[in-house]
Amino acid sequence: MNTEGTIYTSDELEYFELIKWTIDYTENIRKNGNDADRRAADNYLKEYHDTEAKIRSFAKIRTEHLRELEKDENRHKDEYQDVICRKCKSSFALKPVGEQKNKQGYMCNTFLCPHCKENFCNWIPISNKGKIELGVLVMEDMEKNHEPEHKIIKLKKTNDDLRKAMRESDETNKIRENSAKDVEKIVKEQVIHLIAFKYKILNDNKPMEIN
Ligand SMILES: [Zn+2]
Repeated sequence: MNTEGTIYTSDELEYFELIKWTIDYTENIRKNGNDADRRAADNYLKEYHDTEAKIRSFAKIRTEHLRELEKDENRHKDEYQDVICRKCKSSFALKPVGEQKNKQGYMCNTFLCPHCKENFCNWIPISNKGKIELGVLVMEDMEKNHEPEHKIIKLKKTNDDLRKAMRESDETNKIRENSAKDVEKIVKEQVIHLIAFKYKILNDNKPMEIN
């Protein structure tokens, strides 16, 4: 994905404006100052560019992750599913046309039967959490109906694997959230710092005192 597609927060946008002003200002010092000014300016410029690159790269990763999540959430809408119409009992491969809540409160897909022209629900939750709960209910049912044990064990394993995968992605998301908070904090610090810096320069022109 190109950088133009990156979504920035309002703090980040303010930071980019401030850092651009600060870099231009420091470049000017570098051009017109004495040796000591130039050395100081070089150090500051390196720091400014590094911090800006870090913030831009984080925003890019954050945007990519959001797009992935969106794609994941919407994937089911474009997928053909094997379904059986409740009314005429015919089986089809159909794309969903809508959603309906099941008894446990999970959204399931609805389909339009090409024969009866009526909507029906497959009662299979779209979310993994809902699928796991459904898996447990089906297992209980299978036990009640004395289904062969290997079938129940197989379903239990699949259900446990899905639960484990969900737990792992929850943990990854938590780590991601924490680093998002860290970067958010850095951006806010930078904005305040740069506003103070700019204010100081515009008011009493003592460029290198801050920092
Ligand atoms: Zn039908």
